[in-house]
Amino acid sequence: MFLNASINTASVYLCIMRTFEDTYRHKGLRNKLVETIRKKGITDEKVLEAINKIPRHFFLDSAFDDVAYEDRAFPIAEKQTISQPYTVAYQTQLLEVKPRHKVLEIGTGSAYQASVLAELGAQVYTIERQKKLFDENKKFFYLKKYPNIKFFYGDGYEGLPTYGPFDRVLITAAAPGIPQKLVDQLKPGGMMVIPVGNEVQTMKRIIKKEDGSIKEEVYDKFHFVPMLGGKNE
Ligand code: SAH
Repeated sequence: MFLNASINTASVYLCIMRTFEDTYRHKGLRNKLVETIRKKGITDEKVLEAINKIPRHFFLDSAFDDVAYEDRAFPIAEKQTISQPYTVAYQTQLLEVKPRHKVLEIGTGSAYQASVLAELGAQVYTIERQKKLFDENKKFFYLKKYPNIKFFYGDGYEGLPTYGPFDRVLITAAAPGIPQKLVDQLKPGGMMVIPVGNEVQTMKRIIKKEDGSIKEEVYDKFHFVPMLGGKNE
């Protein structure tokens, strides 16, 4: 009994050590990841720098420690995913974030993307519809580093009308169409990056011109988990 208890304590301890230590090995793997996504076509040095800084393995279960720096999406709680680093970099690059921009993100998930936006100096407002994911982020010590991220539990389709308008809106789940309420919360001159489609999504960039008219640009194909309506307790 005593032996069992001490083994359990030791393994919990090891598990925590492994998850929240940013070793030279992790840093080396992160450098390689940055070179991989650079080769895939990401050119914005500020975005690459942010990815190089953030310990992605902190955002994943320790079971994924060995693979956290592969350019792949991984499962998080509630059948959701942390996006592939290339996808995070691609969306962030298209968003053209400047320091102090007010950025609305739909789909907080692991909060990795929100951290990339915060590293770029944005004022981030991020919404998650899964209560469990929202609650986990409240306890996640690393995020204390970013007082410029505000977390909201709610339905992203509604946006945050009382906090808008926003310079940028980023949707990180597959939207069936372009939600008008989110377009309405964009400032004139603002931009939205959104993956649109069901099985496969087309990345789109919506630009609201100074006169309020909308221009739509079409980019590459991606796979995201669906953007669902309402909240989940
Ligand atoms: N940006 C995340 C990616 C998470 S995957 C990251 O960096 O890890 C997409 C997330 O969008 C999921 O957590 C899902 O629960 C959330 N989501 C889906 N529909 C939503 C909605 N209507 N409002 C808010 N969040 C939503």
